[in-house]
Amino acid sequence: MVHNLESESRKLLGRLRDTLAEDSAGQARLDRITHLIADSMQTEVCSIYLFRDKDTLELCATEGLKAEAVHKTRMRIGEGLVGRVAKSRCMVNTADAPAEPGFRYMPETGEEIYSSFLGLPIQRLGEILGVLVVQSKQVRAFTEDEVYALEVVAMVLAEMTELGAFVSDEGGMAARHTHPVMFRGATGQEGVAEGNVYLHEPRVVVTNPVADDPEAESKRLEEAVDTLRMSVADMLRRLAPTDKDQHEVLEAYQMFANSRGWMRRMQEDIARGLSAEAAVEKEQSVARSRLATVPDAYMRERLQDLDDLSNRLLRILTGQGKETGAAMPDNPILVARNIGPGELLDYGKKLKGIVLEQGSVGSHAAVVARAWAIPLVIHAEGITTEALNGDPILIDGDQGLAHLRPEDTVASAFRDKIAMQAKAQKRYAGLVGLPAQTLCGTTVSLQMNAGLMADLPSLATSGAEGVGLFRTELQFLIRNTVPRRAELASIYARVMDAARGKRVVFRTLDIGSDKVLPYMKPQDEPNPAMGWRAIRVGLDKSGVMRMQLQALVRAAAGRPLTIMFPFVAQFDEYREAKQIFDSVLAYEKKLGHILPSSVEVGAMLETPSLAFAPDKFFEETDFISIGGNDLKQFFFAADRENERVRRRYDTLNFSFLSFIRQIVARCDQFGTPVSFCGEDAGRPLEAVALAAMGVRTLSMRPASIGPVKAMLRRLDLTEIAQVIDEAANAGAQSVREDLTKYLTSQGLLS
Ligand code: PEP
Ligand code: MG
Repeated sequence: MVHNLESESRKLLGRLRDTLAEDSAGQARLDRITHLIADSMQTEVCSIYLFRDKDTLELCATEGLKAEAVHKTRMRIGEGLVGRVAKSRCMVNTADAPAEPGFRYMPETGEEIYSSFLGLPIQRLGEILGVLVVQSKQVRAFTEDEVYALEVVAMVLAEMTELGAFVSDEGGMAARHTHPVMFRGATGQEGVAEGNVYLHEPRVVVTNPVADDPEAESKRLEEAVDTLRMSVADMLRRLAPTDKDQHEVLEAYQMFANSRGWMRRMQEDIARGLSAEAAVEKEQSVARSRLATVPDAYMRERLQDLDDLSNRLLRILTGQGKETGAAMPDNPILVARNIGPGELLDYGKKLKGIVLEQGSVGSHAAVVARAWAIPLVIHAEGITTEALNGDPILIDGDQGLAHLRPEDTVASAFRDKIAMQAKAQKRYAGLVGLPAQTLCGTTVSLQMNAGLMADLPSLATSGAEGVGLFRTELQFLIRNTVPRRAELASIYARVMDAARGKRVVFRTLDIGSDKVLPYMKPQDEPNPAMGWRAIRVGLDKSGVMRMQLQALVRAAAGRPLTIMFPFVAQFDEYREAKQIFDSVLAYEKKLGHILPSSVEVGAMLETPSLAFAPDKFFEETDFISIGGNDLKQFFFAADRENERVRRRYDTLNFSFLSFIRQIVARCDQFGTPVSFCGEDAGRPLEAVALAAMGVRTLSMRPASIGPVKAMLRRLDLTEIAQVIDEAANAGAQSVREDLTKYLTSQGLLS
């Protein structure tokens, strides 16, 4: 019996395939298909509704309803039974349609006489494309087998819709992937860019959803799953035992790869006429739509694993690797679900921007984007399914927006914005050789933050006086094992060479929290930002710190060396780290290495506690650098990675500014130079406020130096300090409004 039904559904799919193969226009195809389904399901009606836009479904073809209703009858998602299927993405199967909640009578279709209704979502990889409906006069619910057969048909229709098989000019469907779509994500890194999509992992395209030899397909699937199992086992074998997270993921992969249920469902799909690829994709679609509704984080992760695994299986089956041979377009904008720092670095600096579906502000990809000073938009959900290689795209990192295939009006407004920024850049280029001297005669030293060799050329082009913060963790993050000392020494030496005598402040390894090394044992800390990180790791595992310090000393070899320790929370930590450095110097001397010509050792002030350290701390340190990103999160107790709270407290909050003023006063008391190297240093308004609080060295992204310098050169810091104090005296929590008003009145802001 089952076999019979299977062959019935195979027959239907076979007829469907023949129809699709015919050289007819999109509308004619749709008409044939509805006829075919109604005929083979023995129902009076079969209709196909496809999305006209993201909220509206349109009757695109029908057998049984009035032909005049085609392309006229429309409904919003959620409206009527068809809209209900689209909204819930679940089928509706009823013997008494008029009694169903949501039933809507549509006179133009003459449908009231049909009692039985079966509606199924046409969906592909979690994206709903339309609804397939059969109706009959006879009062009956459709059987499980009929439902199954129609599900398989819906899957094929989804594939064909994706491939553009139903596109037609005369009032029919427009091609997919041609409309403008805007994605509202979040800011990962500011800046705007115009370019063309370059997909990190292009989607696998299934061009043969229907197959007529189930045995051959079943064998292909089995072989592909075997290959998959072997490759997962191999990955597991090669993994370091300490790599707990990776282990967990691969074990989940292994579980799915060996899952009988998964395999059985795919085999059943094949028995009903799908090709092996289509069967994999059908199960993947089911998992994706569940992914959208499951609230449990663990389950979501597992469904994500299944999704990744299905992609691997599809690549094995289709032979479509990650490398599709697609040429990188001009002005490439990378579009990906997520990407690791190593893979990102492989693309090099040619990328103009990045859009991710996942990611976070502190992710390694964000660190790289920041270092390259290219815009990054994160949380742009769904963009990898919509975008095609080469599609035009505009990204706005300031607002967290991506406009895919933008309308001309959007593009021209965007170009105006880019042109304005370019004009400003030109103006800034004219300031490169000039000091950031204010009208009141104060000079602020503007330096740049860096983390890659590739950043160093910006030293000359931006006019930075030096590198105020060199983040050394990237070299550790992008490898699978701890880098070797000689390797690090050579990188640091090259950084110093490229700086041509300008001062580079090397920050020793700042790992933990959001910066987890792939080869570091995960700590499973409830609060990693306040956990075992930065200097805490350095002091507890001093071997790595020593090795890094040796590499720095050897790189300097007779040149001045400046280092600073991150995340010092109390004096003792600085003292202990300094002792380690002194012992490294003594040891290197004993080994006969040339010592640096001079050394400067500083501490990063990133926890409020250090501002209240004993006087001796300020006397003993050569300089202090305020790590504003961390300091702010601990000052306000607001996680810098948490989208809900990270913008809640303003840097221009008077409490924070007066805290900065106190830190500067304590440093000044002992003649200890103090700088500020958090992201806020690169925002003109914030930079001005920090300078008014007495900070005389600001370290920022190279691209921010121009705007900050242009602003500083045109104002009087004593007046700014006055505006800030007056606002605070009047009870303002944040001085942003008053400061903005003042700068606008001076013609410094538009
Ligand atoms: C900071 O915390 O301000 C800082 C510069 O360090 P990071 O952003 O690397 O933590
Ligand atoms: Mg920090």
